[in-house]
Amino acid sequence: MKKVKVAFFDFTCCEGCQLQVANMGEALLDVLDLIDVVEFREVMSEKSSTYDVAIVEGSITTPHGVERIKKIRKTAKVLIAYGSCAAIGGINGMKNNFDLKDIREYVYQKDAKHFDTIPTRAVHQVVPVDYTVTGCPVYIPEFVKVLKAALMGIAYNVPDNAVCVECKLNENECMYDKGIACMGPITRAGCNSWCINNGNICYGCRGIVSNPAEKGQKDILEKYNISLEWIENKINMYNKPRELGELKTDE
Ligand code: SF4
Ligand code: SF4
Ligand code: SF4
Repeated sequence: MKKVKVAFFDFTCCEGCQLQVANMGEALLDVLDLIDVVEFREVMSEKSSTYDVAIVEGSITTPHGVERIKKIRKTAKVLIAYGSCAAIGGINGMKNNFDLKDIREYVYQKDAKHFDTIPTRAVHQVVPVDYTVTGCPVYIPEFVKVLKAALMGIAYNVPDNAVCVECKLNENECMYDKGIACMGPITRAGCNSWCINNGNICYGCRGIVSNPAEKGQKDILEKYNISLEWIENKINMYNKPRELGELKTDE
């Protein structure tokens, strides 16, 4: 059977989601017979101008990035936005809270003119995306599901219910009952409440559910005397690019 050519690409990100591939362990064995990895800068030096599936990590933050992702889109039959930077803009989106000129000068100082930049966007805000694996970093069991769906040509819908559902099923004690605020009530599930299972809060890394229970969240904030600003700051940490809409570019 002909193997599917898979290429990994990174844009603006910490590359932590690519590192997760190294942690796939036995799950990787399920798909290894079916794919041929032809480009993956973190683990190999070979490159390829042809591939069937492009796995794209990172958000689009430069004019060069816009041109590069368009070329990848034209080559790939299937494009997977991999990790929150690619799927929702992620933490790079915090740049969008500031004036672009100011932030560029703050970071690059006297060299700022050499570093052209645009407001941070998720990959789907620049080119069409076929599959999305959100999370900072990605949750590997979900990535395996998405990769299998892509190889079989069937749909994968990112869960659109709150992390609290998974958290309750895992019988965790609620963080709010311990006097600690948590983003679980408005954050997309699919990570099996990963952070709460390990004693942390949910930071909202998978993005906001499409129909958040705003009243329920406000009631919780009032009950536990937590400011709305806390939630807004946390939402801005990963989700700021959603305010921008799609990038209008000439083809
Ligand atoms: S989503 Fe998080 S872990 Fe993944 S590349 Fe972006 S910053 Fe790194
Ligand atoms: S608020 Fe956080 S800790 Fe409480 S149930 Fe929801 S996800 Fe779990
Ligand atoms: S619990 Fe929240 S912050 Fe942690 S991985 Fe899941 S969505 Fe992200």
